[in-house]
Amino acid sequence: MIDLHTHSTASDGQLSPSALVERAASRGVQRLALTDHDTTAGITEARRAAAAYGIELLAGAEISVSWERRTLHVVGLGLDIEQPTLLAGLGRQQAERETRAVSISERLSRIGLEDGLARARSRADGGQITRSHFADLLVADSLARNRQDAFKRYLRPGRPGYRRTVWAGLAEVLDWIHAAGGSAVLAHPFGYGFSGAWRRRMVAAFADAGGDAIEICTGVSSVEQESQSARDARRHTLAGSIGSDFHSPEQFWLDVGRVRALPPNVPPAKHLI
Ligand code: AMP
Ligand code: MN
Ligand code: MN
Ligand code: MN
Repeated sequence: MIDLHTHSTASDGQLSPSALVERAASRGVQRLALTDHDTTAGITEARRAAAAYGIELLAGAEISVSWERRTLHVVGLGLDIEQPTLLAGLGRQQAERETRAVSISERLSRIGLEDGLARARSRADGGQITRSHFADLLVADSLARNRQDAFKRYLRPGRPGYRRTVWAGLAEVLDWIHAAGGSAVLAHPFGYGFSGAWRRRMVAAFADAGGDAIEICTGVSSVEQESQSARDARRHTLAGSIGSDFHSPEQFWLDVGRVRALPPNVPPAKHLI
């Protein structure tokens, strides 16, 4: 079993990198990519655990991209985590996450969330601060029912805790990934709430910019979505990748390794072979 998209406490996942690897190994995953948001900080620990559990660990990251005033996620796989271009790029994204967290916290204080920045920082525990950390605080303070509700009421564009973020552009991010010897995968094409026309524009832009693969099967994709993504991939001569996007054992319907195999009519991404 292979899973090429997962999160740990280095960003908004609930398990430490070693606990994630342990869970993956016990569920029969043989090759795992750790792909935290805008960081490779969990890789060293995950590698050590993977060696102990006898599974293969791919160094990855899920990098936020600004495209047409929207945010996309590009997963880099098989990265040299010491490569200077990649390190500098991720450093910039991390600085942006810090200043964004300050503004999100200010905004949320107006709707009654107290001490948001310090508490989000403490929850992130040295890892990247994401909107998920603020969502959990809103739930803890009974300002939202669950993560989903917190995003819907406060954290999405147009809501009071939202702060527009300018991430790096598509060409730049593909450059970082390729400089580090990795391949670039457009994450969860159905995860952005785009219309079909926008989704196809996004895939075309990703292919034109030199992207390598699109994530066809995820922990939440339907068979119908997977065949549409397979068509998108073929149209733009992109390969196909798979990854659960696992964050937490509490999401029992979305576990590490729980992802369908690639449809047969798409060339597999390099790391699926
Ligand atoms: P950020 O990169 O800080 O903007 O945070 C994005 C993360 O928030 C995503 O990777 C998801 O894990 C999570 N997220 C985004 N939208 C939702 C939602 N509607 N419900 C729950 N989690 C979400
Ligand atoms: Mn996430
Ligand atoms: Mn994502
Ligand atoms: Mn993800």
